[in-house]
Amino acid sequence: MDSVVYDAYDAYGTRDARDDLNGTRQVSAAPLVRALATEAVHAGRDDLAAQGLHAAPIDLSTTYPSYDSRGEAARIDAFAADGAEPDGPPVYARLGNPTVARFETALARLEGTESAVAFASGMAALSAVLLVRNAMGLRHVVAVRPLYGCSDHLLTAGLLGSEVTWVDPAGIADALRPDTGLVMVESPANPTLAEVDLRAVAHACGSVPLLADNTFATPVLQRPAEHGARLILHSATKYLGGHGDVMAGVVACDEEFARRLRQVRFATGGVLHPLAGYLLLRGLSTLPVRVRAASSNAAELARRLAADPRVARVHYPHIGGAMIAFEVHGDPHDVIAGVRLVTPAVSLGSVDSLIQHPASISHRIVPEQDRHDAGVSDRLLRMSVGLEDVDDLWADLDAALGNTVPVA
Ligand SMILES: *Cc1c(COP(=O)(O)O)cnc(C)c1O
Repeated sequence: MDSVVYDAYDAYGTRDARDDLNGTRQVSAAPLVRALATEAVHAGRDDLAAQGLHAAPIDLSTTYPSYDSRGEAARIDAFAADGAEPDGPPVYARLGNPTVARFETALARLEGTESAVAFASGMAALSAVLLVRNAMGLRHVVAVRPLYGCSDHLLTAGLLGSEVTWVDPAGIADALRPDTGLVMVESPANPTLAEVDLRAVAHACGSVPLLADNTFATPVLQRPAEHGARLILHSATKYLGGHGDVMAGVVACDEEFARRLRQVRFATGGVLHPLAGYLLLRGLSTLPVRVRAASSNAAELARRLAADPRVARVHYPHIGGAMIAFEVHGDPHDVIAGVRLVTPAVSLGSVDSLIQHPASISHRIVPEQDRHDAGVSDRLLRMSVGLEDVDDLWADLDAALGNTVPVA
């Protein structure tokens, strides 16, 4: 049987996030003063007790009164000049929102970056990054497949005027041009869970910013800034929100890049709603616990699938995580039609388990040949493992896999 299963990361429950920082951190990443689990429940909330509050307030204002229009003019000038967050009271919700800012502060702390800028979706966040670079005349992107289907499409179709060169990680350095504005990777990648060596990739980028999509790993398993990534992208719709009820995106980065992103966000309007900001802040507080518990379920399911004759191949990352991908000998559409506890749906990162067929759904928009070249087989299924009991999940998968006989 041709199966690939890697052992889960050791001891999800006991590993101290501070251990990550010894020896591996570069100067670009801000130190975690407190452990990740502590930051997850306290970052972005440090001022609450002094205000006599416990839960973060949700500020739904679209505008803010100001009797000092000279002062407001100065704050608007300052923002237009350099994208710094305006001092003093907010001006208008498209410039910034206090509830969303709490989420941004917290996520930056978890990723070890100076700043973070939140958007209405992961795709809005990626679009803002491309717009920043395009506006500087740096329209060329070097990217490694596979990427999330719509990210691939945005680059391939050149919808925002960028031009992409697809390479293997080893080909990055040679593909760089004077107008290269960005190198983009996902690790583990959607949907094959392929991993790249972020440190080696960051080195190959030289002075070109590396954008690492960290949606699958989350800062619980991997902090790309420690390896030299300048931009860390999240579809916050997935693990950061964690309950399948928020659509959002965020870029964690240095303050210099954050200022440009805020200017683009202000001008293009892809802002995050404050209620979503609140839900994301709340989601972050359980992120370490959710990711560790779901990852331990996923590692166990990967083991059982790898030992199953109905399964041709299992993909599970060295870094661990709550995503698994597997290729079946039988018809993958029958497996999708057969699940009852697991929900057959695109997306991932929720407390409940989801399964989908990338060639039909998440990566449908990628041309078939490109999909195959990137390792996205037509028999591949991608499962986002949730927090259900692992034996109940296995019973559902076992029934859905049915009586398909392995091809001799
Ligand atoms: C879902 C996803 C995106 C896009 O995020 P949206 O919030 O759906 O816009 C980007 N990257 C990865 C890895 C994803 O899984």
